[in-house]
Amino acid sequence: MWGATDVSSRPTEGDEVKWRDRSSSVATIDESAGRRAVRVRYWMLTLAFVPLLGAVSFATAEVDEVAESRRLAATVSESTEELVLLTELRARVLDERNWTAAVSGVADIGFDPVVVEAVVGIDMSRELDEARTSVDSLLVAVDWPELGDDIDGARADEAAVLDDINTAYEAIAASVENRSDLALDALLEVAGDISDGSDLVDALRVLEAAATARRAVTLELTAYFGAQFTGLDGSTAERRTLTEQRSEYRDAIADVARIAGPDTEAIKALNAVEASEDVIAFRAALSSLLASNLQVADVEGFDIAGIFSRLDEVAATFQAANSSVEQHLELVRAAGADVDTTSRALEDAAAAATRGALYRIGVLVAASLLFVMGLARAIGRPLRQLAAGVRDLRDGDGMSPLRPAGPAEVREAMHAINEAAAHLELAERQARALAIGQLDSPVLEERAPGALGRSLQETVQTLASSLSQREEFRRRLTHEASHDSLTQLANRKASLAQLNRGLARAQRTGATLAIMFVDLDDFKDVNDKYGHAAGDTVLCAVGERLVTAVREGDHVGRLGGDEFLIVAEPIAGAAEAVALAERIAETVGRPISIGSASVRVTVSVGLALADEHTTLTGDELLRDADLAVYKAKELGRSRVELCDEDLRAELVSRAEIEEALRLALVRDELTLYYQPIVDPQNAELLSLEALIRWDRPEVGLVAPDAFIPVAERSDLIIAVDNWVLRKTIEQLVAWGDDQELRHLPIAVNISGRHLASDRFVADLLDPVLESGVDPGRVIVEITESALLDDLDSAARKLESLRSSGMRIAIDDFGTGYTSLAHLRTLPVDILKIDRTFTADETAASLVKLIIETGHLLGARITAEGIETPEQASVLAALGSDELQGYLYGMPVPPGDLQADELSTAAVVVGPASND
Ligand code: C2E
Ligand code: CA
Ligand code: CA
Repeated sequence: MWGATDVSSRPTEGDEVKWRDRSSSVATIDESAGRRAVRVRYWMLTLAFVPLLGAVSFATAEVDEVAESRRLAATVSESTEELVLLTELRARVLDERNWTAAVSGVADIGFDPVVVEAVVGIDMSRELDEARTSVDSLLVAVDWPELGDDIDGARADEAAVLDDINTAYEAIAASVENRSDLALDALLEVAGDISDGSDLVDALRVLEAAATARRAVTLELTAYFGAQFTGLDGSTAERRTLTEQRSEYRDAIADVARIAGPDTEAIKALNAVEASEDVIAFRAALSSLLASNLQVADVEGFDIAGIFSRLDEVAATFQAANSSVEQHLELVRAAGADVDTTSRALEDAAAAATRGALYRIGVLVAASLLFVMGLARAIGRPLRQLAAGVRDLRDGDGMSPLRPAGPAEVREAMHAINEAAAHLELAERQARALAIGQLDSPVLEERAPGALGRSLQETVQTLASSLSQREEFRRRLTHEASHDSLTQLANRKASLAQLNRGLARAQRTGATLAIMFVDLDDFKDVNDKYGHAAGDTVLCAVGERLVTAVREGDHVGRLGGDEFLIVAEPIAGAAEAVALAERIAETVGRPISIGSASVRVTVSVGLALADEHTTLTGDELLRDADLAVYKAKELGRSRVELCDEDLRAELVSRAEIEEALRLALVRDELTLYYQPIVDPQNAELLSLEALIRWDRPEVGLVAPDAFIPVAERSDLIIAVDNWVLRKTIEQLVAWGDDQELRHLPIAVNISGRHLASDRFVADLLDPVLESGVDPGRVIVEITESALLDDLDSAARKLESLRSSGMRIAIDDFGTGYTSLAHLRTLPVDILKIDRTFTADETAASLVKLIIETGHLLGARITAEGIETPEQASVLAALGSDELQGYLYGMPVPPGDLQADELSTAAVVVGPASND
């Protein structure tokens, strides 16, 4: 009803809305169910009521039974009273008969009762009256009006004879006895029905026996007096009665003695009877009567004389008999009292039993209720706790763990809820760990059970791994941004940053730090000889060795290529820094194995120091260290150079030179000198080499060694080279009219730095082509060492020049360790053997090898530095195609290149003169 209307009323809305509707309807179901449901304690009460009702009805039945016993006992008590009354009534009826008979008999024989009273001391009328009163009062007590009528009838018959009186009263007595017997039987029956009624039955039996004894005594009394008138021979009715009643009496008394309990009233009364003198006297009288066989004279039925003769004895016996009757009546009463006591005891016991049963029922009911309430509480409380926990979970509030209580099922449910909550909490902790990026948190490894747990775990793992991949990627990017990919050392940028931090620290702490610029010597050879992969291996090995060589905390980075940077701090001073640098150089210098080969690389180390007084930036310090490296390289490599004040002074002067040289270019302070190159055979002028000079104001003529290396530190050299080429072309053009010089080629020196630049080909080709000068008259000299940096590129560029007609000369050949094999790939027209070989007489065979190889490659050989005719002859003999040197002419200004001067030189010192 709730869900259906909500959902169907908005069938077109989105899933989310439906879902929300459903979820709210779920809440409705939940709460309405909670309102309608019956609390556990009522369930329990209901359950408890069923057995409780059974117990109560069972107990009630028991109480009913007890109450019945009680009622019966009460009935017995009442009936016993009646029975005692009836017994007494019967005795009194017989008394009344006796007195009636006595009065009637005395009257019949004409005696005045007063005489009788005077003679025997008995007032018979009074006795009769008393007997009648007694009977009347008993009749009232037993409420028996019909018997009263009978008695009234017997009394009314004045004329009745003795036999009639006897008959009438015997009938009444029989009627009473009959009723007593019925009452006794009824009582015995009732008593038998009473549970635990055996005592009562016994008491009734005693009562019955007592009544029998009492009746026997009465009957004996009657028979005794009858015998006084009729005599007692062997066959009289009186004898028979006496004999019979005597036996009856004995049995009844024996019954009383046997059945009655020791503490009963009946036993006490019996003891009193046995001890009574009257009872004993009456018995004795009866015994002597039976023994005497009394004979009386038959005078109209009465033996008056006999009676008179025994009058004293009869009167005494009469007294004793009466007393005996009373004694036995007491016995009957006592037995009745015992019955009453017994039945009352039964009644009390029954009442107590009822009370006990009711008490037990009450206790049972109360205990049941308490137990049920306790049980309901014991179940209800944990159930409520459970419900509250589940509600907390539903509402998303954190659930504190439930303390398991109550029945096993509830405990189980609580355990399950606790676990569910723990799993939710686990999911939350995992989400939190993911959110704050704790990807190595052990919580991510934990797993909730079941399909949901597995899917959660998978999701967490996926998230974690994608997060860690991102993290890894980010770390790698950061690493790559600051690290060199080959050696994994800090890169140039990171190294500079480290240097700047070190400087800042030095400012704060006053410590000194050392900056070491480490540059591999001739690393290019390794690349060329073993390949780039081997070069990489060497670089990595060097990086590792640097790291092991420095101290803990010192920084090692790669600036690029074969350059490394070390920032060591703190450093005591220059000496320690140099020692450290030398140790590093020594470590790196050990052999490095590349596959099966083993190479050695040396390093040049440039050192710069900084302390709190240093005002230089990191960049400037790095430049200082770089300059020190440069210096080390200049001084022959594999050494440590400190950037000290001398070097700085040198740098200052270099800077000044550079500055001045720029101005010199503009101010046209530069000039070209030309040196002749001649044919060894005839000293004929073959070509000229243009050599630069700086006519520096106030200084004079400056040699190129003083400023060309400075110019080569920057692109200034390119400007210089271009100026030289332009000047040379101008010269060639100028000499176009000169007969002697118009065909001479001029060699220009071009720096390696210029060759490396992209402008090289255009810078050289364009001016030549534009000038219209024959490119064949231009020789480009490149030093051997400049070619080695990038052989392929150099070869391509030089080939471009060469294809235009220009010629290529390799300058200072032999100093750059160029393997001769390299020459094959280079477009070479001329090899210029360095002047150190010319001067060294021991190098002849090497020079010969160079010359022969050069010739094989189709190159001409020029020997430089020829100063003596001997040198000229040796080099000529070794196969040099051209010679250059002071022997043939100093470099001179173009104006000095007069044909006569040249020829003079040639004539004077040419080798031809030796011929
Ligand atoms: P280089 O190219 O090897 O030039 C030859 C040098 O040897 C010249 O010195 C020359 O004066 C000197 N020389 C020639 N014959 C003899 C000799 O018999 N004995 C001795 N001891 N020396 C001799 P210079 O002119 O001082 O030039 C020195 C270096 O400067 C040159 O060596 C060259 O590398 C460079 N250079 C000179 N001019 C230029 C130029 O215009 N451009 C460039 N880039 N470099 C130049
Ligand atoms: Ca040269
Ligand atoms: Ca040279």
